Amino acid sequence: MSAHMQGIGMTSRRTRLRLIQRLKDKGISSPQVLDAIAEVPRHIFLDEALAHRAYEDTALPIGHNQTLSQPYIVARMTELLYGHQPKKVLELGTGSGYQTAVLCNLFAEVFSVERIKSLQDRARERLRDLKCRNAVLRHADGGMGWPERGPYDGIIVTAAPTEVPTELLQQLADNGVLISPVGAERQILVQIVRRGDRFERTELEAVKFVPLLSGVVR
Ligand code: SAH
Repeated sequence: MSAHMQGIGMTSRRTRLRLIQRLKDKGISSPQVLDAIAEVPRHIFLDEALAHRAYEDTALPIGHNQTLSQPYIVARMTELLYGHQPKKVLELGTGSGYQTAVLCNLFAEVFSVERIKSLQDRARERLRDLKCRNAVLRHADGGMGWPERGPYDGIIVTAAPTEVPTELLQQLADNGVLISPVGAERQILVQIVRRGDRFERTELEAVKFVPLLSGVVR
């Protein structure tokens, strides 16, 4: 870890607690989810030039026109998953790896797919540094999920498809839950719970994610 990182690490406790308080104020109530977020140093998922803004409740750029999601939405989506007590979780859109690290603190097995190789490489290093040994990363177009490793008790999509692909729903275990933003210019956070052959859909709140794209970037 660079001296710069350590400096932030030492001074950030109060700043991190302030973020946790803000998440509580916005309605995040699960102590386990709040603890998991408090545990993950968000600044190491950002370039040094942006690290000082890591504990603000805003989305921040991570390169390649992609963003590290706003802590509130990471917390909200994680809390929705947590409510269903999944053991095995699939994440689409590893990005910086921040959401992956939060998931690793809460769930037994985490599978995460990213289409941009350089983002995935950096995420892998950070997750190794944080000793997140229960995450398995894959460089691929995750639009159709990762069927070979399924079914999953939980699926979280961190880039917005225009509609949830049927292939993805098929990878949900019975009583499994999928959380995804859906839409183009206007997006809504959607929760889908599988009950046998039925899929119960709940629309939650307006969100703003980068789009789910197809193909891979080497
Ligand atoms: N969870 C991330 C958010 C990253 S933004 C974080 O905490 O940093 C969304 C990510 O989804 C981007 O990295 C983007 O490259 C990725 N993505 C978009 N479409 C994808 C696809 N079809 N398969 C896999 N990853 C995809």
